[in-house]
Amino acid sequence: MEETLKILVVEDDEIDRVIVRLALTEAGMRMELDEVKDGNHAFFALINNHYDCVFLDYHLQNQDCLTLIHKLHSSGIKVPVVVLIDAGNEEIARECIQAGATEYFIKSTLSSETITHILRTAIRIHHTEIQLELANQKLKESREQLTLQHQELDKKQQQIQLQNLKILETSRLKSMFLATISHELRTPMNAIIGFSQILLRPKFGQLTNQQLDMVERILNNGKNLLMLLNEILDFSHLEAGKLELKPEILDLSKVVNNTVSEIRSLAEAKNLSLLVKTDLENTLVFNDAVRLRQILINLLSNAIKFTESGNIWVEIKEAPKNRVIIIVKDTGIGIASQDFQNIFAAFHQVDQGISRKYSGTGLGLAIIDSLVRIMGGKIYIESKLGVGSIFKIELPRKINLADNLGDIVFHSHQNQFYSLYSHNKASLNYPNLKL
Ligand code: ADP
Repeated sequence: MEETLKILVVEDDEIDRVIVRLALTEAGMRMELDEVKDGNHAFFALINNHYDCVFLDYHLQNQDCLTLIHKLHSSGIKVPVVVLIDAGNEEIARECIQAGATEYFIKSTLSSETITHILRTAIRIHHTEIQLELANQKLKESREQLTLQHQELDKKQQQIQLQNLKILETSRLKSMFLATISHELRTPMNAIIGFSQILLRPKFGQLTNQQLDMVERILNNGKNLLMLLNEILDFSHLEAGKLELKPEILDLSKVVNNTVSEIRSLAEAKNLSLLVKTDLENTLVFNDAVRLRQILINLLSNAIKFTESGNIWVEIKEAPKNRVIIIVKDTGIGIASQDFQNIFAAFHQVDQGISRKYSGTGLGLAIIDSLVRIMGGKIYIESKLGVGSIFKIELPRKINLADNLGDIVFHSHQNQFYSLYSHNKASLNYPNLKL
């Protein structure tokens, strides 16, 4: 059923009012018609009633139509307004439309057809305007919400930045603390070691067997503690980027053989054979001898520590692109593939329990990792639980101090003796190591 339209006609001229009324009545629409003569009555009627359309004479006695349109607009009254003008007053009509009227109509063209058309058009335009306004309002709300979310995000970002700064500061303080404490402890430790060595010299008098045993223990424990302090100091320097390599031209096979001789007694104490194979055409490299020795000592002492029976092998050989490879292989307890990544983290040990069997700080591999990186090299690891481990260090023959972007790479082979994985999930095609 067609809805009943409620229409207000604002017209001070009696004849014009009748003409509009007749045209509307003849239009045959269901409607309720109210008529007022001036702007004040119109405003009052519009405040108190809902109208589907207002026909407004452009020339009212007390108040012109523009004033009424402004008043309606500022009072928030939304209604389609059709301004009725005489021919030649189109300029006024345009002003009214700019002020908020919906349409205008020339009185002389008034008929039941034209009024029906203008009425429907005005209502449709008005509905569209309302919908547009609603959509704009929603858009504005979404924009405001978005701005709020942006502000929230900015705040969170600032918080994260602040937390990052705090973490950096804490890490810096930790490194400083480690560096200071280990540096300060080294002086008394050196005194303990020095004096116990002096006590062991025969010219300071004969010690009883019990005294000899005690001084030897002081000396050995002192040496262990000094080693530990040196590790912590090195690690904190590496972390702070303060450790500098001192490269020189050196004979790699000599460094390897000397280091193996230093550590051989440890292997012998566990009845492990320690074999060295040098397969280098050119044994000369440009690197830091102290740091190369440190890498070897760490790898070899791990190999000895984690091997109960069998062999330890050390091999050096050429690699493509003027690189050299140092390999340390053992028949020890091995490392599960899921631990490959973790063991290079500082203070990380596979067995983290208090009652763990193997001593150590968990810094050895972290130090090796950093050193190999600043040497521009790569570390490869292969291992199988209960079978053994292979650590392979690939280094440029001539290190470049600016090149510090080395990688740890875990090999990935299937159905092999060793369980092998790639650190960055990239499958690497390196042949299994045979020593
Ligand atoms: P630490 O030897 O002081 O514990 P590292 O950083 O040298 O510290 O080694 C970290 C961990 O990696 C060791 O605790 C051990 O669990 C594992 N690991 C290292 N080398 C070997 C190896 N050759 N065989 C078995 N496990 C090893």
